[in-house]
Amino acid sequence: MDRPNEDDLIDIDPYDDGSFPEFGFNQAPGTPAVLAALRGTGPVPTTGLATRRQLRAMGLSPGGHDPAAVLVWRSGKRKAWLYRIDLAKPKRKPTLAQEAALDKAMASRQTCPVCKRRYHACLPLKTLGSCLECFDGTPADPSTYTAPPTAHQLAA
Ligand SMILES: [Zn+2]
Repeated sequence: MDRPNEDDLIDIDPYDDGSFPEFGFNQAPGTPAVLAALRGTGPVPTTGLATRRQLRAMGLSPGGHDPAAVLVWRSGKRKAWLYRIDLAKPKRKPTLAQEAALDKAMASRQTCPVCKRRYHACLPLKTLGSCLECFDGTPADPSTYTAPPTAHQLAA
C-alpha cells in the first residue's frame, strides 16, 4: 500500500483566504489610541485600524476603502472589518435635500394620524394606529410632541 510522501502534503486552512490579517480585541495596531479617542481622553489617531463604528464615532468614514483586516472575537463567532485610519475620510455630511427626505420619512413615523401632533419619538402606528392619547386616552406629556399646525378656520 502506497503512503503519500509527507513532503508532498501542504497544510490548508479552509477558512483562511489569505487576504486578511486577523486581530483579537485590543490586538489591532493603534487600538489603545482609538479607545482613548472614543473615551475623549486622547486625540483622534492618524494611523492604525478601527471598525466602521469606531471611525464614525471619531467623525470619520472608511472613505470608499476596503477593510484592511478583520477583528475576531468570541473564538471566531463574531467578526468586524477593520479599516485603515490613515485612509479614512471625514464623515459625509448629508445635503439639505437628503436631510429633508429623512425628516419627511421620520415625520410620517412620528405624526399621529388622528390628532396630527408630531411626537419626538416614533409612534406604534402598526399596532395602535395612533398615539397613546388617541388610542386609550393616556395623556401625553406636552413636552413630547409639537402641536399640529392650526387648521384654517375659513368657511368653505
Ligand atoms: Zn393622537
